[in-house]
Amino acid sequence: MEPFDYDVLPGRVIFGVGRRSEVGDEVERLTATRVVLIADAHDQETIAYIEGVLGERLVATFTEVAQHVPVALAEKLRALVASTGANATVSLGGGSATGFGKAVSLTHGLPQICIPTTYAGSELTPIWGTSSGEVKETGRDLRVLPRTVIYDPELTLGLPISIAGPSAMNALAHAVEGLYGPGANPVMSAIALESVRVLSTHLPIMKAAPASIEERSKVLYGAYLAGVVLAVVGTALHHKTCHILGGLYGLDHAKMNAVVLPHALAFNAPAIPEAYERLNTVLGGDAAGQLYDLARALDTPSSLLEIGMPADGVERAAPLVVRAAADNVRSIDLDQAVAFLTNCANGQRPS
Ligand code: NAD
Repeated sequence: MEPFDYDVLPGRVIFGVGRRSEVGDEVERLTATRVVLIADAHDQETIAYIEGVLGERLVATFTEVAQHVPVALAEKLRALVASTGANATVSLGGGSATGFGKAVSLTHGLPQICIPTTYAGSELTPIWGTSSGEVKETGRDLRVLPRTVIYDPELTLGLPISIAGPSAMNALAHAVEGLYGPGANPVMSAIALESVRVLSTHLPIMKAAPASIEERSKVLYGAYLAGVVLAVVGTALHHKTCHILGGLYGLDHAKMNAVVLPHALAFNAPAIPEAYERLNTVLGGDAAGQLYDLARALDTPSSLLEIGMPADGVERAAPLVVRAAADNVRSIDLDQAVAFLTNCANGQRPS
């Protein structure tokens, strides 16, 4: 067996139906007394509920959450934190809300409690990101690793398949790249494969039975496993590509993931025979094609053109992908990047 090493990340995870009610206890556990709630405005009822549970510990609620953490809004939140003397944040929402909490942890050192409502996985990683115009800046810093994550499947009951599908493909991308990303190791591979198994099994059932709390729980659990892997292993061609396309064209993060994943896996397949075989076993053969089919079954967009990439978008992105994916498990040159991006742009099933 090959030797391996990795840093086990700290953090507390609470998983279960209704457990958002425990957010006050978790604030106490961190000995925090003044909390800013950062909330995606999609669910006013839950915002009001969390505000009620936080009670006198709540000093402000910030709802100007936008995707990719625009710097101007992050600065607004930081000013709010400073003016209120907050000593912790609670974020409620998808990866965007989590990202704002991380922006504050990075500059002000505040501990963050996350209550995720999508499958983005950011709540488990020490990766932060901000955006300014077309430029997206990211970094890895343990200060931004959330201290506590409360997974309450009830909060995903209202997630429509139009958001749940792409978001789950984002989680699957974390698990798949976890098998061959820069920090891959046997422990993370075991978790990644279990994540792929849980997600690929339960997503179609959840789509057919969206009110089933059991199926919602299973999918959230699979996404949690994927986040664990992302946090340790890091990313490869797939995520580097999404990062570039998100910065250049402002494409929706989760939808991009749904489009790019099968093509990135198909490109990497020759360089990862063992991992690909293990994925085949879980997915029933032809892993890249199966992921493409799963994405179609979840009604996610199939092409980058469909989600707003300009018709000449490939040419501009290709050299950036080559540079960003220099450490990918399979090296990629300009012609290959153009071909790969063209496949993503057009959205045909990978062969
Ligand atoms: P998001 O947080 O922007 O949410 C997408 C949409 O879903 C929003 O319109 C939101 O209002 C809505 N929504 C969220 N929860 C809902 C629910 N339960 N019911 C109904 N609607 C709901 O998107 P996302 O895909 O969760 O996160 C994307 C962001 O997270 C990107 O900026 C990405 O870069 C970042 N991200 C970061 C990491 C990391 O490790 N740093 C990992 C993954 C994603």
